[in-house]
Formats: sequence, structure tokens, C-alpha cells
Amino acid sequence: ALRFLALYMLSRVQRICKSTSVSCAGFPRGLWSGHAFASVRISPRTRSARQELHSASLLCTAKAISTPPIASPESMGKRRVAVVGGGISGTVCASELTKHDFDVVVFESGNGLGGRMSTRRYDREDGTQVTFDHGAQFFSVSDPRFDSLVQEWERAGVVGRWEGRFGSIPNDDNTRGHLQPEDTLRTAVTLDSEHDSRYVGMPGMNSVCKHLQSMQGFEVRKRTKVTGFTNPSADADGKWSLAVKPSKDPGADPVMVSGFDAVVVTDLSVAQVVYGEPAPLESAGVDGLLKRMQSAAPREARFALMVAFEGPVPIEFDALQIHNHPVLEKASRNSSKPMRSTGADQWVLLSTQDYAMNRIRGRLSRPGTTVHSDLLDRVVEGMYEAFESLVEEDLGAHPLPPTVLKVAHRWGGAFPAEPLGDGAEEFLVDGSSTFYACGDFVKPPVNGVQGFVEGAALSGLAAAQRILQVTQQAPAL
Ligand SMILES: Cc1cc2nc3c(=O)[nH]c(=O)nc-3n(C[C@H](O)[C@H](O)[C@H](O)COP(=O)(O)OP(=O)(O)OC[C@H]3O[C@@H](n4cnc5c(N)ncnc54)[C@H](O)[C@@H]3O)c2cc1C
Repeated sequence: ALRFLALYMLSRVQRICKSTSVSCAGFPRGLWSGHAFASVRISPRTRSARQELHSASLLCTAKAISTPPIASPESMGKRRVAVVGGGISGTVCASELTKHDFDVVVFESGNGLGGRMSTRRYDREDGTQVTFDHGAQFFSVSDPRFDSLVQEWERAGVVGRWEGRFGSIPNDDNTRGHLQPEDTLRTAVTLDSEHDSRYVGMPGMNSVCKHLQSMQGFEVRKRTKVTGFTNPSADADGKWSLAVKPSKDPGADPVMVSGFDAVVVTDLSVAQVVYGEPAPLESAGVDGLLKRMQSAAPREARFALMVAFEGPVPIEFDALQIHNHPVLEKASRNSSKPMRSTGADQWVLLSTQDYAMNRIRGRLSRPGTTVHSDLLDRVVEGMYEAFESLVEEDLGAHPLPPTVLKVAHRWGGAFPAEPLGDGAEEFLVDGSSTFYACGDFVKPPVNGVQGFVEGAALSGLAAAQRILQVTQQAPAL
């Protein structure tokens, strides 16, 4: 019954499309550029009714004619892979595939590469800049495969060691006010000495992802959100197609980009309804993979407060782990990391999960809306007051210097609560071996939070290596 309903709705949509001169499946080929038109056929025998419904609405709103060309003369004859997400897992995966002569396109909904290894820059009136790593603070290395990647990045000058002084604040009645040298933050598994194991990107955390792109030259489509997928079984050429639209324009019609031999997704959100929009994976016809991703526990949330002070914050530590505090979990002096701008003392404060959940209250506000900016204003105030009281009252330090800038950012999905893999399973793959999922939500970190970057990078690497393996066994193009 659902299948008939799907076909009935499809024919209704076609009729509407015809009357409004928007092209759709079954209409004259000339309205569509080759690949895009070929990708809009839907075979009722091979697709579930639910996928048909989603695909039909996706494809029928996809803009005619304007499908961007993806085949350049150099890419002709190469295998093509679409990577959804330009964080560390996506860029490591794209880099590995490009090295092996694949034609890779990375679709990234954000303004640039990095994902949660992110860096914000603000220009000051005096011409200097302040920068903040408002996602991952540093990462550790435990696996030899990641070690060799990190060594390469160190040689390229995009990664260095953070030699800052780490401290912890127990914040209970007996020990309040006594900073203690931090051992628990240090990684359990290290390459040489414990102290050498905190790595950061240079000059920002996102430098690693940018470096991978500039070394290998894979194509990146920034500010481009993937909203759906069309399975090769519904494509005349037997290839994957992606529906994409500008991420800042949620009301825009999606455009189809076609001709991919494989797809790699790197974010759990493609399997989830976010801001009321359907999960992009619903339309892909990869039900097993979709179910697995949807079985993940909800990710933990955090707020990050970026603060630049006119002078140095009067405490002797560069990074603090704050225990049992209602608002703050971590504080890092960004300006103590290598190759950072030093014009102001720049700090990144991370909230606790409880503080974030109590403010988000089960409903993510959409960035750019008044509701969202009001929320961030309240967070700036709340987190700053908490830091001020921690430094001045709990630690008994001198008053904080005046601030130059205070900006808050919400991470709706900061960390996976529990990655899906068991450690041995480093990525997920659909039965057809053409659709992959990788990232920190698959591979558990070895060293707690500071091992997430490593887990994500290894997950992307392993997915790429499986694609290489599978295509070596497949007949040549
Ligand atoms: C506040 C904070 C502090 C952290 N601290 C540490 C730390 O100290 N050490 C550590 O190791 N780890 C830390 N982490 C975790 C670490 O940053 C992540 O585990 C790692 O960066 C994840 O990389 P990824 O490639 O799996 O995912 P991401 O970096 O999230 O990349 C996924 C990308 O996909 C994009 N995307 C999603 N959906 C779509 C779509 N539909 N279309 C197009 N693009 C899409 C996203 O914009 C994103 O860029 C921290 C994270 C946060 C938020």
C-alpha cells in the first residue's frame, strides 16, 4: 500500500512540476543536464516506498539545468568518491584516496575545513588578530599509523607540541583553592615522554585539514550541505548522486551532483532529523547502515566561550581541568599554544555537559535566529561570570584584566557518548561496499577525550583503505 502511495504521490508531484515548469523524473531529457537526469529514475522494485517518497520530493525540487559539472579532463576515467564532511576523518580519507589517483569531492556544510578541529579568527581594530581553537584543544598519539601521519604533519610544520602548564581544580570543600600539577590529563600511552604527547595544529587546529587539502588538491565544496542521496540502483549509469544546497539557505532547492562510485559520510547527523529536516540518509537505500547510525547514543553537548583579555590572566597555568563545577569543565590559554597570535591573552572555556543540556533543553535552536543569538548572549554572561569567580574567588588570583572580545559557540554534538565500534571495527560499510561511514562516532578513543581526533583520523584512513582494496578487486573502469 505504501508503494502505491509513493507512486501516486510521485505522479502528483510530476504533474505539479509540469505545471510550474520545474523538471522532474519522466520529463524531457533536455531540461536536465546529462548526469542529473539519469539519476532521477526511481525503480519501485529496488527501493523501499519510504525512500521513494523522500527521493521523489528531493529530486523533484532539485533545480533543473544548474547541476554543477564535476568532470574535469584530468578526472576523466578516474574513480570518483564523494566525502560528506571536511573534518579530520573526511580529509584524511580524501587525502588517502587522492594519493591513489581517485577523484574526490569533499562536501562541507561549514565555512571551511576542520570540523570540530576548528579555529576562529577575529580582526582587531589595531590590525592584529585573535584566534581560538574552540573545538578540540589538543590530541594525543597512541597508534603507529596515526604516529606516522602526525610525524608527516610535524615535518610539514602544521603540527607542534603544546608545552603549556596543565593544572586541575578539584573544587570540593577540602581542596578548594589549591591548584595541583595535572597528571590525570596526560595521556596514558605516549610516544616518548608523557609531556611530549599533547599535539596541536599550527597556526590553528584546523591547519591539519587545510594542509591535507593543499598537499593532495582534492576538490572541496564549502558551505554546501548534503541533503539526500540517490542509490545507484536508481541511476542509469549505476552511480551515486547527492542532493546538495547552500548551507546558509535552508529554503533553497537542492541540486543533484552525480557520478560517484562510492560515498563516505563522516557525521552522525546525516542519519538524524536536525532542525526539522529529514535525515539525508533516509533516501540512500542503505537501511542497515542507517539503523546502525541511528542506534548511537545521543552525543554530548558543550558550549565554548572564547575570551580575549587585554593582559595576561593572572594564574600560572595554561590549561585547567575543572572538576565538580556546575558550569565549567576546562579552560585553555589559547595564546600559550605554538604559533598563536600573542596580541591578547586568548582563552577558550568549555562548559560542562549539564550546563549545556540545561540551556539547550532538548531543542537545538538554528544558528542565525534571534532565539539562538539570545541563547548565546546568556551563555556568554553565565560562563564568563563563572570563570571570573573561579579565578578571583576560588583561586584567590588578582582580578581579571579587561576583555577585548567574548563570543560563545554551541556544540550540539561535541563528543560521541559511546562510539559504535568495538575498536576493531574502525568504519561502517553498507552491503554493496560503496557506502561508508567513518569518524569519531565509530572508533572509540584510546586515551579518553584527547584521543578522539586520533580515532576519527584512523577511522577515515581505514575507510579509504577499504575502498582502495575493494576497487583493486573490481574490474577496471
Ligand atoms: C569542544 C570540543 C572539545 C574537544 N576536545 C578534544 C580534545 O581535546 N582532544 C581530542 O582528541 N578531541 C577533542 N574533541 C573531539 C574532536 O574534535 C572530534 O572527535 C574530531 O574532530 C571529530 O572529527 P570527525 O571528522 O569525526 O568529525 P567532524 O570534525 O565533526 O567533521 C564532520 C564534518 O561534517 C560536516 N557535515 C555534517 N553534516 C553535513 C552535511 N549534511 N553536508 C555537508 N557537511 C556536513 C560538518 O560540518 C563537519 O565539518 C573535542 C570536540 C569538541 C566539540
